[in-house]
Amino acid sequence: MPKKSIVHEPNPVLRQPAADIPPGEIRSAKIQRLISDMRETLAAAWDGVGLAAPQVGVPLRIFLVSDEAASIDTNAGGEPSRTMRMNANDANSERRTWEYHAYVNPVLKKRSQKKIEMAEGCLSVPGKFGLVPRAEKVYLEWLDERGRKHSRGFTKFFARVIQHELDHLDGKLILDRAKRLFTAEAKKKGAPHRE
Ligand code: ZN
Repeated sequence: MPKKSIVHEPNPVLRQPAADIPPGEIRSAKIQRLISDMRETLAAAWDGVGLAAPQVGVPLRIFLVSDEAASIDTNAGGEPSRTMRMNANDANSERRTWEYHAYVNPVLKKRSQKKIEMAEGCLSVPGKFGLVPRAEKVYLEWLDERGRKHSRGFTKFFARVIQHELDHLDGKLILDRAKRLFTAEAKKKGAPHRE
């Protein structure tokens, strides 16, 4: 069992804007333990590619993204190729181990005008998916878990995950962003029907 469990909507911590971490505290035992606990929690979540601190009940500006986000292929509709991923898992019956990178005090510096709509799920909103428009490209600045500054651009699925996690730090959920909501069951059938 992971040390921290994922909180679900309507837990109020998911709606609270999270606070910046003073850079001098990033290397403290408290923050390092939080990052390590979040890694364990995300690793245990089947199909989870990102996790923000509010999702484990901690209102601080930090999130993790699995490097799986960079590797997920997209088809013409911009949907992650779920089949491909499941086959990859079946092939060696062992889950591939991903790296989980920490983004501390992330700041969105730029985003493209162009948006892409895609079905998106959230570990804190179980059983539901939403058709969410997101900028195709974003440019982010952040600190890593050792307090070093980074900046770079992200595109497509990775950019989507970054925007989803940034929303968590501002108390926003897919429920606020989705043009349509549907169940996981409907998504499987490829026929989203619930609003
Ligand atoms: Zn989420």
